[in-house]
Amino acid sequence: MQINFWNKQIETASRDEINDIQLQRLKKIVGHALKSEFYKKKFYKAGIETPEDVKTLEDIQKFPFTTKNDLRQNYPTGLLASDFDDVVRIHSSSGTTGVPTVIYLSAEDMDCWTELVARSLVATGCTKSDIFQNMMTYGLFTGGLGLHYGAERVGMAVLPIGGGNTIRQVKYMQDFKTTTLHITPSYLLHIHGKLDEFNTKIEDLNLKRAITGAEPHTEQTRKKLEELYNMPCYNSYGLSEMNGPGVAFECVYRNGMHIWEDGFIAEIIDPETGQVLPDGEKGELVLTNLTRTAMPLIRYRTRDLCHIYDSDCPCGRTHRRLSRIMGRTDDMMIINGVNVFPSQIEEVVMNIPEVGTNFQIVLAKSGAIDKVIVKVEIYSKMFSGDASQLDSLNKRICEELKASIFVNPAVQIHEPGTLPTFEGKAKRVIDMREEI
Ligand code: ADP
Ligand code: ZN
Repeated sequence: MQINFWNKQIETASRDEINDIQLQRLKKIVGHALKSEFYKKKFYKAGIETPEDVKTLEDIQKFPFTTKNDLRQNYPTGLLASDFDDVVRIHSSSGTTGVPTVIYLSAEDMDCWTELVARSLVATGCTKSDIFQNMMTYGLFTGGLGLHYGAERVGMAVLPIGGGNTIRQVKYMQDFKTTTLHITPSYLLHIHGKLDEFNTKIEDLNLKRAITGAEPHTEQTRKKLEELYNMPCYNSYGLSEMNGPGVAFECVYRNGMHIWEDGFIAEIIDPETGQVLPDGEKGELVLTNLTRTAMPLIRYRTRDLCHIYDSDCPCGRTHRRLSRIMGRTDDMMIINGVNVFPSQIEEVVMNIPEVGTNFQIVLAKSGAIDKVIVKVEIYSKMFSGDASQLDSLNKRICEELKASIFVNPAVQIHEPGTLPTFEGKAKRVIDMREEI
C-alpha cells in the first residue's frame, strides 16, 4: 500500500516527542487562555494562576471542563484571548436552541488548522493531482471552508461547489473528472439513488475516494457506500469548537481516525462522573486545542461518545486513533425506559441487503407508551414481487431491530425517493412525543 506523508517527522514522532510537544504547547496555551475573562475567572477558582502551574501532562486533570453552555453564556467575546485586530476569521453556530456560539481564529491559528487538514488529506492518499469536489455547505458552518484551504495547500484542484443541487454535482463530477468528494454520508447515499435518473453510471465517473464526515454514521453505512460507489470512504471528524474538520482522520488503512496529538490533547471521560477513563474504554471525548491562541479551549466536553485505540497503525503514524463516534450524549433516546442510540438502528437497517439508501426514526406516544416507528426505503425491484415478500421483509427487519434495541418497533417500508432527504447533515430522528 502506498503511504504518503505531509509532515513525516511529526506524524511518526515517538511517544516521548509527542508528550514533549504537548506539554510545551499546553503551558503556552494556558498562558493565552488566562488572557480571556472567562478562563481567568475559571482557572483562578481552580487554583491555577500561571502557566507554571502546569508541570506535567497529567496536570491537565486539574483544569475544570469547558462546556457548550460556557460558550453560549459568554457569547460573544467572553472567551476571546487576543486583540480583536488579530482575528482573521469568525465562525458561529446557532445550535438547536438558537443561542449562538462563536469561535475566533488568528492568521497563525488559520495556518495551524490548514496544516492539519492538508496532513489529513494526504493521509487518505490525496495528492496535488487530485480534483477535489467540496460538497459541504460553505459559510459559518466549518465543514465547507474547513477543508477548502487544506485541499488547496496540498495543491489539489478545488471545486468549492458547496451542498445541494444534485444534478449539477453529478455533471461537474463528470465534466471535471472529480477524483475526491468531501460530503456527508447521508448526502452520498442520497446521490446514488439519483444516478439512474441522470443516466449516469459509477463507471462514467472518475471517483477515487470520498471523505465522509460531519455526522454520525455506522460501519455498515460506510460498507454500503463503498460497495455502491466502488471506492474507499474515509471517516473525518471535527467540530467547530476545535476549528472544524481536521481533528481526527482515517489513513489509508481505515481502522480508526488518527487524532493529531500535536494539535489536540484527547481524553475520554465517564460522562456521569467526569472521571478520566483508560484507552479502550468508551466514554465522552474531551478535547484541548493546543494551538489556537485567539480563543483557546481547554478540556472542552464534545458530548461525542467513542474510545481511543492505542495499538500501532500499519501506516507508521504514531498519533493514537479514535473509534467511530457512536453517538452524542444528547442523542440518546429513552424509549419506555430503555436507552437507544440512533446508531444502533442504523447499524441494523444498513446491514439488510434489501434496504436502500434512506431511513428515518419517528418517536410517538400511544397513551403512556412510547412507540418507535422505523421507516426504511427499499430498492425498487422489491416492489415488483408479491406482497407476501414485503410482509416477510417487514417482519425480518422488526425482529432484527428488536434483538438489537430491546424495544418492539413498528417498521414501515417505503419506495425509493419518498423519505425526506438532506444535502448537509441528516436529521434522522423525529421525536413527536413532547407535542402530544
Ligand atoms: P453542531 O454541534 O452544530 O453539529 P458542528 O458542525 O461543529 O456543530 O458539528 C460537530 C459535531 O458533528 C461533532 O461534535 C460530532 O457530533 C459530529 N461529527 C462530526 N464529524 C463526525 C464523524 N466523522 N462521525 C460522527 N459524528 C461526527
Ligand atoms: Zn494509520
